[in-house]
Amino acid sequence: MGLFPSISKIMRKGKGLFLLLLCLCVVAWIATFSNDDTVKSVQEGSNPLDDRSVEGFAQLELESEMMQSLEEQQSVRKSCPEHSPLLRGAIKLSFDPSLTIEQVESDNGEVVEGQYNPSDCEARQSVAILIPHRNREKHLLYLLHHLHPFLQRQQLHYAIYIIHQAGDATFNRAKLLNVGYLEALKDQSWDCFIFHDADLVPENDHNLYMCEDQPKHLVVGRNSTGYKLRYKGYFGGVSAMTKEQFHKVNGFPNSYWGWGGEDDDLRIRVTLQKMSIIRPSLEVARYTMVFHNRDSGNQINEERMHLLRRTHQAWKTDGLNSCSYKILSVHRAPLFINITTDIGQPEIAL
Ligand code: UDP
Ligand code: MN
Repeated sequence: MGLFPSISKIMRKGKGLFLLLLCLCVVAWIATFSNDDTVKSVQEGSNPLDDRSVEGFAQLELESEMMQSLEEQQSVRKSCPEHSPLLRGAIKLSFDPSLTIEQVESDNGEVVEGQYNPSDCEARQSVAILIPHRNREKHLLYLLHHLHPFLQRQQLHYAIYIIHQAGDATFNRAKLLNVGYLEALKDQSWDCFIFHDADLVPENDHNLYMCEDQPKHLVVGRNSTGYKLRYKGYFGGVSAMTKEQFHKVNGFPNSYWGWGGEDDDLRIRVTLQKMSIIRPSLEVARYTMVFHNRDSGNQINEERMHLLRRTHQAWKTDGLNSCSYKILSVHRAPLFINITTDIGQPEIAL
């Protein structure tokens, strides 16, 4: 018997101990959970906030770096000077019969798909040179050879477009130039257009291929006319008009097939819009015309005097707004963009 009371004492103590242990376990368990929660709440609360602030900081840093490099770029690409330091004045022109397009390409490595942009300054104007063409490959070669370096010395952003008349219908210089204007504007919004014969090579790079507040005529003298203006009012060969000036006159007429008259029509359009034609000095506006005979397929337009009498009315409906044509191909060669077009043929008067 004496043994039992001590056992039951131990049993009671053990129960107490067990209960105590159990309580401790529960407390520890609750503590673990509440700790987890605290950790979780720290993770959920403060860490994301921390992340966000780190991200925000990085973003700010990135933005300020971008602003800085943009400012740097802008300060590097400031506007090209009003007078290009690269101009040379009168240039000795050469017309080497053995010249090849590959040679001209290798001389003009910075021209890409007919287009050039000065690398060290922002050009003052973006200029599209439009050349009407059929069967004058040699003239084009000589012109490209001289014109690319000439335009680069003028620090212009420019592209050269050759608008090639497909088929053997009578040639139509004016309509081709309308097509060139409309198609070039699909590439980009050029400030200035130079309407340029294939056979006229400028002799002096002070003759700027830029547009002014009035339409500009650039061929004051040429070798073939003893360096005299062909006649008072002559507006052919090479002329410069802004996008707006050309749009205002509704472009060239489309109805002049064959040689002559279309340039006089454009002059009349210009004066009807109360604009005047300006010219650089004879000293700089000089050209060499590569010799040629009258082309077959470009016979004298006998209708031209009759057409010129209608211009004051016809300009509104015969021009850019009625120029219908098909583009057969656009080929971006290294030194020019060649647009081959079907412009139809003269309407036969009944
Ligand atoms: N043209 C051409 N092929 C022709 C006829 C004319 O490419 O068969 C183009 C060429 O750009 C040329 C311009 O039209 O320079 C003007 O023609 P042309 O040279 O006969 O006129 P002109 O010598 O009387 O100024
Ligand atoms: Mn000519």
